[in-house]
Amino acid sequence: MRFETLAIHAGAEPDPETGAVASPLHLSTTFKHGPAGERIAGFEYQREANPTQDRLEVCLAALESGERALVYASGMAAMAGLLESLPNDSHVLIPSDCYTGLRVLCAEFLPARGITATALDMADLNAVRAALRSDTKLIWAETPSNPKLEIADIAELAKIAHSHGALLACDNTFATPALQQPLTLGADVVMHSTTKYFGGHSDVMGGALVFAKANALFDTVAHRRHITGNIASPFNSWLILRGARSMPARMAWHCRNAMLVAEFLAAQPEVEVVNYPGLSTHPGHEIAKKQMRDFGGMLSVQFKGGREAALKFASRVKIFTNATSLGGVESLIEHRASTEGDNPTSPQNLIRISVGLEHPDDLIDDLKQALS
Ligand SMILES: *Cc1c(COP(=O)(O)O)cnc(C)c1O
Repeated sequence: MRFETLAIHAGAEPDPETGAVASPLHLSTTFKHGPAGERIAGFEYQREANPTQDRLEVCLAALESGERALVYASGMAAMAGLLESLPNDSHVLIPSDCYTGLRVLCAEFLPARGITATALDMADLNAVRAALRSDTKLIWAETPSNPKLEIADIAELAKIAHSHGALLACDNTFATPALQQPLTLGADVVMHSTTKYFGGHSDVMGGALVFAKANALFDTVAHRRHITGNIASPFNSWLILRGARSMPARMAWHCRNAMLVAEFLAAQPEVEVVNYPGLSTHPGHEIAKKQMRDFGGMLSVQFKGGREAALKFASRVKIFTNATSLGGVESLIEHRASTEGDNPTSPQNLIRISVGLEHPDDLIDDLKQALS
């Protein structure tokens, strides 16, 4: 089956008991078993697995071309679930432009187990090679990255990681598997904040890991989730599964609108640079073209007038809402540095935009009046 068909049919068999076409929402925490614990349909207790969570995992594994998936309460729970499963005293490489939560996890929580991280430019493959150490166990890629939309070459990073006996994990939240499938390019694990494009309506939080192989790493991470208990709830799994069905169709519209917004902004005299991998001027454009089907719904814009111009612009928009997060039907705008806590890494003149599914002319009219 092709991607759009899989998104609708993976994990979507009608309920065998009732024939219900929409996936049932199973809330049961516990499942009847035999007197010696013999499982009847494979389930025992919800913290380990439940039929609704199971359907979402089947769907996510199919969409990322992986063998198994694990769903979590949030994207950060998924990220922590993988990184905390590394052996104590591991070293990891992370991108210098990345989701803030990854940076904080590496700075504040992982050092307690001896895990250290080096942040670098993942687009610079020589810098990546040079940063590898004998204890480097994992390279973490995020492409396109947050909030500068930097592009890393997944296939090349996979080769570098594997020739070193390390793993490549990729945060695929911005692209979604509709646009980019890191496992088919050689990555070992894909991470998602399903809060974003999978949910798609800014009303459900979730995360996921998808594994290329159902191997010992998968078993270790699954066992950790079972014992630490950060699995997605059935209701959240059900909403995310529902969102997954329309995700490919929504992504096409997000991409179309984002390209129009990026082109509009790039032509404005107040703008220093638009960071969108779909623009031929973007330094990662050629690699993005090679590894992505389209360029996504996220972009950022940097203003010549600095922080003041950026904040003025953000204060004037009417259709775009000033809010964090992304991937919903409504367009959002955010002065990223203001929401990154005490030590922001985002440039002060940068505004991040999640382009929604409104009519593109209304979005551009709104940006026009905000700039005027
Ligand atoms: C939102 C986000 C996360 C964290 O996910 P939550 O669901 O908010 O925990 C991680 N990576 C990226 C790229 C994100 O956008």
